[in-house]
Amino acid sequence: MAYDNLLEQTLAHAQRFLDSLPTRPVGATASLEEVRQAFDHPLPDNGIGSSRAIEELATRADPGLVASAGPRFFGFVIGGSHPAALAADWLTSTWDQNTGLYVISPTAAVLEEVAAKWLLELLDLPRQSGVGFVTGGQMANFTCLAAARHAVLKEVGWDVEAEGLIGAPTVYVLVGRDAHVSILVALRFLGLGGERVRHVDTDDQGRMIPADLVRVLNDCDGPTIVCAQAGDVNTGAFDPFSEITAAVHEHGGWVHVDGAFGLWAAATPSVQHLAHGMSDADSWAVDGHKWLNVPYDSGIAIVRDQDAHRAAMGVSAAYLIKSAGAERDNVDYTPEFSRRGRGIPVYAVLSALGRNGLIAMIERCCSHARRLRRQLIQDAMVKPLNDVVLNQVLVRFEPPQGDPDEFVRAVVRNIQQEGTCWLSGTRWRGREAMRASIVNWSTTQDDIDRSAEAILRVAHDTAKRS
Ligand SMILES: *Cc1c(COP(=O)(O)O)cnc(C)c1O
Repeated sequence: MAYDNLLEQTLAHAQRFLDSLPTRPVGATASLEEVRQAFDHPLPDNGIGSSRAIEELATRADPGLVASAGPRFFGFVIGGSHPAALAADWLTSTWDQNTGLYVISPTAAVLEEVAAKWLLELLDLPRQSGVGFVTGGQMANFTCLAAARHAVLKEVGWDVEAEGLIGAPTVYVLVGRDAHVSILVALRFLGLGGERVRHVDTDDQGRMIPADLVRVLNDCDGPTIVCAQAGDVNTGAFDPFSEITAAVHEHGGWVHVDGAFGLWAAATPSVQHLAHGMSDADSWAVDGHKWLNVPYDSGIAIVRDQDAHRAAMGVSAAYLIKSAGAERDNVDYTPEFSRRGRGIPVYAVLSALGRNGLIAMIERCCSHARRLRRQLIQDAMVKPLNDVVLNQVLVRFEPPQGDPDEFVRAVVRNIQQEGTCWLSGTRWRGREAMRASIVNWSTTQDDIDRSAEAILRVAHDTAKRS
């Protein structure tokens, strides 16, 4: 048949790559020039056939691949692929279901319906909420904020889906000073402006200060949306949700929570206190491809008012066969029309782990983060910058002499080159810092110990050379 041995051949490549993850250098080993040389040849007039195309693709790709799916990648907030999620993702591609409408994939529709129900239970969010499986946190923020825009404008008699924003009443959007940039991008896409937001002051961990929120709210005379955060991308800190939701609802506004990675705290008894009051918000964004360890692309938009969610995202056209009754048409919950079955690997990983397995994975990562911090700050050169409340570790290195910011940048660069682990830098309160994010199901205590040893060794080597 048409596939011959192609899938076995591909499986062998996949297996080799997965087997290499714990031991290969974490960063890419090839330069831009080398990666280009591997691929950038003239478009062929005659193809080389599937088998050779896959052979070349797999072998040439390797030096430019980053082991971000592996156990010692701590950059940004990335996450790997849990085996069940990866396997389900293969099947999702194989089945090639268009997941927009019930009629073209009853299985995909029901899997997303059940995955949605499980997620609401795990995160203890209102069970009647709308749930959309989108590409990531940014699009989850976009989807939730589109529902927010609908609802706050409807409240003042404006139909934003029909009329757009031209001539509409002013919508006030409040964000904490440490809001994730994807919130601002989502606002930009929605015509609400990424820079016309009003800022609420934050404390030393990046948490919104409720008194300042009240001060800013008092200036907003009309439809209002407040974007809060569960899990600051640098510190892991959570906004004080109880105070925020009380103040905003009193004002008649909508509270959105960006919980790209932090929302999972709500499922986890030992860190649940961070999410206290969060379920009183109106919408929540979370990633599957970060801490749930589902392959890209996977984000989840959750909206308490299902009607607002569907009003903002829903689609109808004469040629579409929309369900009239109990069936779920996924197209009504996401910005996309045709799309892959993103809920399928979410279902599979939740089914593989169960509630307890998920809790264990989250707690393991949090405990690794505390361990990493402990080991790093034993060295006098390392200064802690955050309270490790979740899975994010933020530190600075103080050099014996010279510019501290330049030194931190050099250390981060050298760690990335050394290859034991991979972390990224950031700026925190005006100074350079190094951040580590522990979100991978496969990271072990030994990975943390080896990484801490390598980080400190590289920092001292960098100091000697500077
Ligand atoms: C990663 C992240 C996002 C963006 O999510 P993507 O999946 O990369 O689109 C938004 N907010 C926070 C807090 C994040 O950590």
